Amino acid sequence: MPKRINNDTLIADLRAVADKTGKTTITADEYRELGAFSTKPAMRAFGSWNQALVRAGLSIGRKGNIRAGKRVNLHLRHAVLKRDCFRCVQCGASPARDVQVVLHVDHIVPVAKGGRAVIENLQTLCSLCNFGKSDELAC
Ligand SMILES: [Zn+2]
Repeated sequence: MPKRINNDTLIADLRAVADKTGKTTITADEYRELGAFSTKPAMRAFGSWNQALVRAGLSIGRKGNIRAGKRVNLHLRHAVLKRDCFRCVQCGASPARDVQVVLHVDHIVPVAKGGRAVIENLQTLCSLCNFGKSDELAC
């Protein structure tokens, strides 16, 4: 028989995962990856995933795209740089190899054209590649 996990423990772990991701909400997928338990005990204890988030004082996410606004916050910026291994995705320039290199986090679809500040629409470019790029996606 599976050991019963008490609600306080579940809530504390939900908060710990939210802290790790730096967000005010977490998806079930993120919890499965980072949490101490599966999502089942929390869903069973609180009725649903969203209820569990509410009980932990977190907000309810929308389709996993959390607070997708126009601004790129520091956490998102870091996540993009990390995903791209801190290198320009076009020319491969890296500040680790050349201190002159400055990396920018760039919108693939420009904000002016409805591009959003979500990780899928962001890429790492060095200043040279970024300034060489117009809104028309040159290259
Ligand atoms: Zn570059």
